[in-house]
Amino acid sequence: MKGLVKYALGMEGVALRELQEPVPQDGELKVKVLAAGICNSDVHAIHDQRSVTMPIVLGHEFVGQVVETCGDVNGFQVGDWVTALPACYSCGECWLCKQGLVTLCNERKSIGSHRDGAMANYVVVPAKYAFKIPDSAVTLEEKSVYALTEPLACMVRAAYEKVDVKPDDTVVVSGPGIMGQYAVQLFKSRGAYVIVSGLPADKDKLELALSLGADDYATSFDELQQKVYTRSPKGADITCDCVGVIPSLETCMKVIRQLGTHVQVGLFGGKVPFRLDAIFDREVNYIPSNSSSYTSWGITMDLLREKKVTMTPFASVRLPLDEWDKGLEMVLNKAAYKVLLMPDNTF
Ligand SMILES: [Zn+2]
Ligand SMILES: [Zn+2]
Repeated sequence: MKGLVKYALGMEGVALRELQEPVPQDGELKVKVLAAGICNSDVHAIHDQRSVTMPIVLGHEFVGQVVETCGDVNGFQVGDWVTALPACYSCGECWLCKQGLVTLCNERKSIGSHRDGAMANYVVVPAKYAFKIPDSAVTLEEKSVYALTEPLACMVRAAYEKVDVKPDDTVVVSGPGIMGQYAVQLFKSRGAYVIVSGLPADKDKLELALSLGADDYATSFDELQQKVYTRSPKGADITCDCVGVIPSLETCMKVIRQLGTHVQVGLFGGKVPFRLDAIFDREVNYIPSNSSSYTSWGITMDLLREKKVTMTPFASVRLPLDEWDKGLEMVLNKAAYKVLLMPDNTF
């Protein structure tokens, strides 16, 4: 089979390679990959900003069909369509793993970082951390959208598990990328009033957010401030930074109310110059939300089954696996919400 392998430092250390097909061990599923999303963390791995065990097949956001099982696999069968929680090879024994917080395990092991990932014809995952996609996805195109489940589960952790949202709360979502668009839908599903903040260049994305349920948007700080305080004179109850750049966090700290809750989803990726007292001044609850837990996935699959959230608009680009470098460039240029690599044309 073919797989996109990171095997050495530098851009030259990434290539499509001919590999042995993985063999499932006890409790594992062998999955034929239909689509694998390119995540920023794959980009960081390629550029050595994040260390991975080399050599390794990249990719942790995927959907595919079970072609082989081994041992007890919780009722999964050949032919099932599945996606999976990436940190599925964490220790499983510690106090965090026992609560499903596998991402926080000291021995965290994820596909695409420590074990071979999904940018290949086949990937192997433990059945314990696999999830069937809803039967309502019939065509291959509909099924491929489920490669976007993992980022949604991360946003579900933020919006459903890390913050308490009261109906009618005013929520500011900063950044209308895929995570922001998910945030809009999730906070709306919890009954909040949602204002999305972006740049003038984000107009199309902000319009999309409106069509997905956002109540309002702003393309400048003044406009945001005016809209937040008109709606909620105390300031925003919740702010959610989906970007991970200082101006975005600063904006959030200027429109949040005293004792409000800020949830940080965007990763800053290094040291940042930020006046921490901005958090202190208003006694803001600063809550980081890192990846997803096992329980986030249950909520995510329920929301998808109930069609309370859509992922379809963000599966905008599909490329054959061979064109991974083109996909990478599109991700770097933010030219798509999500690029899906399609390893196999034999489905
Ligand atoms: Zn990801
Ligand atoms: Zn553990």
